[in-house]
Amino acid sequence: MRILVVEDEERIRRDLKSHLQASGYVVHEASNGEDAWFLGDTEDFDAVVLDLGLPKMDGLSVLKRWREAERNFPILILTARGGWTDRVEGIDAGADDYLVKPFRMEELVARIRALIRRSAGRASPMLQAGPLTLDTSRAKAIVDGETVALSPLEYRLLSYLLHHRGRVVSRVELVEHIYHDDVEPDSNALEVLVGRVRRKIGSDLIETRRGHGYLVIAE
Ligand code: CA
Repeated sequence: MRILVVEDEERIRRDLKSHLQASGYVVHEASNGEDAWFLGDTEDFDAVVLDLGLPKMDGLSVLKRWREAERNFPILILTARGGWTDRVEGIDAGADDYLVKPFRMEELVARIRALIRRSAGRASPMLQAGPLTLDTSRAKAIVDGETVALSPLEYRLLSYLLHHRGRVVSRVELVEHIYHDDVEPDSNALEVLVGRVRRKIGSDLIETRRGHGYLVIAE
């Protein structure tokens, strides 16, 4: 899962990045409205954290331009204490949720998890596929009642495929959403990763569609 964090205060941005990464997300950053708008317009994200008070272009304008361009990713806005009119305007402009500064990082991460779940059409934090249960609130995989140890990368792979189960996910999309930006996986790496996950969770859950990508079948 790939998150865009838009925040001009470096300390908060760093904090957001480290908490979201620790919770299993790939994080991209922007520190002003113009960069944010461009990234959101040209790249694909699973959710966006958007501060409203930004240099170059304010957050509300960024939000409106994305929605006008039919960029549909879930957006959580960050507003100043007392800025209730900003929150109303933000929600009316297409924001899905908000937090008032200062906030607890744990709360932000929980809200992001819920937004991603909802946008994938899933209300429960427990994702099921055959004997596998993925507990997204604790980043745990359970097969036949036993917890399976997964690396952060293995978890991101499984989580992305399960959120999008029933749809073939291309290799390019998968690489984009599960690897950190500074990692350039070679063509074989994804295959190897999928093989490793299959051995851990049962070989028939993830199907390979030659020339297309990977699929976890919907029930
Ligand atoms: Ca700000």
